[in-house]
Amino acid sequence: MFAKQNRWKPYIIVAVAAILLISIVIFLGIRSNSEVKDIVEQQFTSQQLLLNKQISRGIEVFLNEKVLLIEIIAKQESQIPPDNFTSHFKTIYEKSSGFYAIQFINESGTVVAGYPEENLPLGYNLYENNQSFAFEKVQKEKETYITGGVQMFEEELGSFIWVPVFHEGKFKGTILSIIKVSDVTDRFLKNYASQGHVYLIDKYGMLLYDSSPELQIGENDFYLVNESNLLHTSIIQEQINCTEGSGKYFKIFENGTGEERIITYSSIGWHNQKWSVGLTNPVSDVNSLIHSVYIKQGVFIGMSGILILAGSVWTILLFMKWNKTLEKEVISKTHEIKQSNELLQSANIKLKEHDKLKSEFVSIVSHELRTPLTAMKTSAEFLKDDNCDSSVRLEMLDLIIRNIDRQTRMVSDLLDISRIESGRIKFNSEITNLSEVVNWSIKNVDTISKEKGITIDVNFPKDLPSIKTDKDKLIQVFVNLLNNAMKFTPQGGNITISSVESDNFIEVRIKDNGIGIAPDLLNRIFDKFYQIDSTSTRKVGGSGLGLAITKGIIEGQGGSIRVESMQGEGSVFIFTLVK
Ligand code: ADP
Repeated sequence: MFAKQNRWKPYIIVAVAAILLISIVIFLGIRSNSEVKDIVEQQFTSQQLLLNKQISRGIEVFLNEKVLLIEIIAKQESQIPPDNFTSHFKTIYEKSSGFYAIQFINESGTVVAGYPEENLPLGYNLYENNQSFAFEKVQKEKETYITGGVQMFEEELGSFIWVPVFHEGKFKGTILSIIKVSDVTDRFLKNYASQGHVYLIDKYGMLLYDSSPELQIGENDFYLVNESNLLHTSIIQEQINCTEGSGKYFKIFENGTGEERIITYSSIGWHNQKWSVGLTNPVSDVNSLIHSVYIKQGVFIGMSGILILAGSVWTILLFMKWNKTLEKEVISKTHEIKQSNELLQSANIKLKEHDKLKSEFVSIVSHELRTPLTAMKTSAEFLKDDNCDSSVRLEMLDLIIRNIDRQTRMVSDLLDISRIESGRIKFNSEITNLSEVVNWSIKNVDTISKEKGITIDVNFPKDLPSIKTDKDKLIQVFVNLLNNAMKFTPQGGNITISSVESDNFIEVRIKDNGIGIAPDLLNRIFDKFYQIDSTSTRKVGGSGLGLAITKGIIEGQGGSIRVESMQGEGSVFIFTLVK
């Protein structure tokens, strides 16, 4: 459970780090977005204000120029009587566009001259028509006076410029020039309708121009406190009071919906009049500008996210790969440890067996060495007795000799195996006739074969070639194998020695019909000191070295030895000799 948790730990860390990074990128993106929105809005507003100021200055110069021109004429007292004004009015009217009419009103308030004639109400008396307010005001204050948007005729607003004329300190009348507001707005505002919603108001809030068709020019809608449009109304009041500024308001449409708008305003000052140009745009226009920035930011955030994700996935895959390699290594190391454990175990088993064999060997060797000694001692006791019969004496001597031979064999077996194991064994090489060797060997086991009534058949091909080998050691091999065959074959058994020749080898087979060997022990019997039955009840003698020595002699001269056997049916020992 703990190991499992640890395994997922790096992936969890990487995933959390990736989520954190993505969140940071998104957070920074959103934060910079709102900053960008503010900045773009501010820049847009200041640009609109600049534009607004340019428009206002244009109108201001235009209007003030008109006043100045009229004031200059008014100062030229020599032009009086009024008829002389007319030619000047004509020149101004034609050279300086924007006048609707320029007329002279005499001291009694009657229009007596002017230009153009078609726009002149000649003979019109202000007093008679109750319109003498401005006329009296300029006479009294001796200063130019301008009346605001005056409804002249249907849907036309005009601005009246009253300039008093004095001659030698005496009031002679006024020059009244009329400017059509639409002339001014057509000239200066119409073109800017594409830049947003443009409007013009006077100092009372009366609408002089509106680029949208919604509002009626000349009406004072702005000034009316409209609850639903309170914000705009308050801005209009600000606009009337201040020279310039900007802000935001929420415009409500007739259908109840609405939108947020940016507004800038800038005033036009001419004498006692003050007009103000307003320019408004929906905030959504600015937003569309910002959206392109957002899209770029979105792409950036998306790309960053993808990159972070890809990086994380790559890191996790790398971790997984490392993990897999590590797992594989652990598995292979575990396997190696298991194998070496198994090896150690089998080595341990072998060591134990070896130890067992050793102790068995000690007991066998002591038995093999002591038995002849006991026999020899008993025989010697007999020989000491003078009354001993000569035939018994001979038998005893025979017994002593046999036991000496037995001990000698034992000792020479021990010496042989030690030589084989240390590689000190030496082989003589002499031409050897195999049949001869076999005959010698059979003779060697003659006594025992007769005792047990075991027949030995030799089945050699007549043309069997002689070979170069160590003859004595080959005899030792045959004697060992024949002795074993005798030992493990019951009375009246049979042994067959046969041989087959091949290109490089002569193969010899020694077959008995004795007790046979269990299949699992076939390889063990060639180990030194190994005896299938090593108990004290074992009837046959032997040290367990015979087959080890035989194998050493055969393999030492380039041959090989193996055994085939069926338990209870007999064994065949097969060995090869190099030709
Ligand atoms: P030993 O001196 O005990 O005969 P060997 O090395 O010659 O020792 O033989 C090892 C063992 O192999 C014997 O103890 C015996 O159990 C078995 N063995 C050898 N030859 C034969 C055979 N021909 N038939 C059955 N068992 C045999």
